[in-house]
Amino acid sequence: DQEVAHYRARRDITIEGQDVPRPIQMFHEANFPDYCLEVISRLGFVEPTPIQSQGWPMALKGRDLIGIAETGSGKTLAYLLPALVHVSAQPRLAQGDGPIVLVLAPTRELAVQIQEEAVKFGSRANIRSTCIYGGAPKGPQIRDLRRGVEIVIATPGRLIDMLEAQHTNLKRVTYLVLDEADRMLDMGFEPQIRKLISQACTICFFLLYFN
Ligand code: ADP
Ligand code: MG
Repeated sequence: DQEVAHYRARRDITIEGQDVPRPIQMFHEANFPDYCLEVISRLGFVEPTPIQSQGWPMALKGRDLIGIAETGSGKTLAYLLPALVHVSAQPRLAQGDGPIVLVLAPTRELAVQIQEEAVKFGSRANIRSTCIYGGAPKGPQIRDLRRGVEIVIATPGRLIDMLEAQHTNLKRVTYLVLDEADRMLDMGFEPQIRKLISQACTICFFLLYFN
């Protein structure tokens, strides 16, 4: 309708695809748990960014999506908050289960930043996360994976090592994010990404963007 078209136009949101849900214009419309809304208000956020406003309803419905938005536009929370909602809706991890959410990122630095957000928003719900990246000792990473974590944020190469050594598995992954997908492809990660996706249970969400 007109009001939605106007909202999208004002914020430079362009959409493609079938049956795209209406954007979420205010935080409370998204039905995020209270502990997430509390963090949002503590951080002083006033309204969703465009990628959040249009990305949240897509991800919350379990739709696949490619999101493109500039640096600093809040893409991390665009996929992380629906990921937390998704985890909360799943049966608890059993002994030997791998993660439910997998976020692939091109660099260690980015993976660490994403995990900080995951902790900030997810710890109140006891949603556990860990970072798996190369160039660091494997011991602590193996320990976290073996204890069980709902969310893994990883660079592709090290995660493949961990899977080959059977320290974890992707059989329960039902929410998959490729953050900075364009950069991962530029870096030549496509074969590793394909290998990882083929081991996941289903693919619910893609994130790709250009700076
Ligand atoms: P991107 O991945 O798009 O480059 P980030 O997800 O790293 O951007 O977010 C950039 C900054 O914006 C972060 O500090 C984040 O906490 C903040 N941010 C996220 N969502 C909002 C919002 N709705 N309002 C204000 N700031 C936000
Ligand atoms: Mg980002």
